Amino acid sequence: MKFGGTSVADPERIARVARLVAAEARKGHEIAVVVSAMAGKTNELVAWTDAAGPPADGIALNDDEYDVVVASGEQVTAGLLALTLRAQGMQARSWMGWQIPIIADDAHGRARIEAVEADALGAAIDGGQIAVIAGFQGVTKDGRIATLGRGGSDTSAVAIAAALKAIRCDIYTDVDGVYTTDPRIEQRARRLAKISYEEMLEMASLGAKVLQTRSVELAMSQRVTVRVLSSFVEPGDMSDTTGTIVCDEEEIVEKRIVSGVAYSRDEAKISLLGLPDHPGVSSKIFSKLGDANVNVDMIVQSRARTSETANMTFTVGKRDAARSMDLIRSLQTEVGFEHAEVDEDVAKVSVIGVGMRSHTGVAKTMFGALADKGVNIQVISTSEIKISVLIEAAYTELAVRALHAAYGLDQIG
Ligand code: ADP
Ligand code: ASP
Ligand code: MG
Repeated sequence: MKFGGTSVADPERIARVARLVAAEARKGHEIAVVVSAMAGKTNELVAWTDAAGPPADGIALNDDEYDVVVASGEQVTAGLLALTLRAQGMQARSWMGWQIPIIADDAHGRARIEAVEADALGAAIDGGQIAVIAGFQGVTKDGRIATLGRGGSDTSAVAIAAALKAIRCDIYTDVDGVYTTDPRIEQRARRLAKISYEEMLEMASLGAKVLQTRSVELAMSQRVTVRVLSSFVEPGDMSDTTGTIVCDEEEIVEKRIVSGVAYSRDEAKISLLGLPDHPGVSSKIFSKLGDANVNVDMIVQSRARTSETANMTFTVGKRDAARSMDLIRSLQTEVGFEHAEVDEDVAKVSVIGVGMRSHTGVAKTMFGALADKGVNIQVISTSEIKISVLIEAAYTELAVRALHAAYGLDQIG
């Protein structure tokens, strides 16, 4: 059972979570609980690390100490939930990432879990104790605390579920399942009873933050069945159809062409104009960005009509925009382009569905719906099961709602 920030936001909510956990335990289940920091806590901790300022030499990384600070929010909630469970008469103890241990690599701030050594944890649970685990954190081989990237408690939960061979990983959050789009943007969004790993992976990586992308990757590779449900449910009201099950495509009877619409405001668009049109140019640009760990997403290139030059547009995360522009400018003489510019006022809107593999006309519907609303498409990218477009940020909500309706996803009534 994993509980996100809003679900453990204060002592009353923690008491509620404890009652849910106790109810499951009394049914005879053995339980590991993973908790996030209280809502807003991690943001506050991140701001404190920013206030400390960058390293004086400008070179040394202080990300390892960033992790020491931001991982602390989960320690508080794990301890509080264990205390509350004990107050309700249950046997419980808290576990930090390093105590289990959850071994992570040393990419501080966005570390990946390498292994979960769950023997001691499993033995404690077998002994009748509820394990309350601090999410979001692991320990490196050198004994340093590492955090798993924002939203990383989802990944902690799936990794623990896999290591303990749990029957299921229940992710309790502030919505009662995975919806056809973010219910905060479109009230007519519908809860999906089931969604395939592939679709959930695309939804998450294209902006639906209900699950961290890596948690879905891990669930898919380790065959962990994940259920997303609301922590505001009453224990007595739970049934097998509560929430959304993330599972294999084969287990889904209802076939849809498009399952969902996702959006992300986290993109920045970089355009290079007047690039020499010869082999090796893209290689130079993207090697430079890749070496600096910049993730490039959408890419388009086109030959200019009148000269021997080409134009190129690609997107990077907003966080990397300024750094990417510096790297690009440092290549201007060597590569020989005329002009580079960045636009942060963009959003990416995507439609996702495994049905696209076998159906035509999905792109036509998308472009038609956007055209009807006067939304201009700047960049397009596709994969087997998704189409993404980059548009002006101001049109995000309009575009999401238009697409949601165009694919017949709106709730009826
Ligand atoms: P937690 O703190 O429990 O981890 P998050 O805030 O990370 O919760 O994720 C839950 C939020 O994800 C919801 O409040 C909702 O606004 C957002 N969300 C975005 N897309 C979707 C979607 N397709 N279905 C459900 N929720 C979504
Ligand atoms: N507390 C962390 C965050 O806010 C991890 C999580 O909630 O999953 O990103
Ligand atoms: Mg989350």
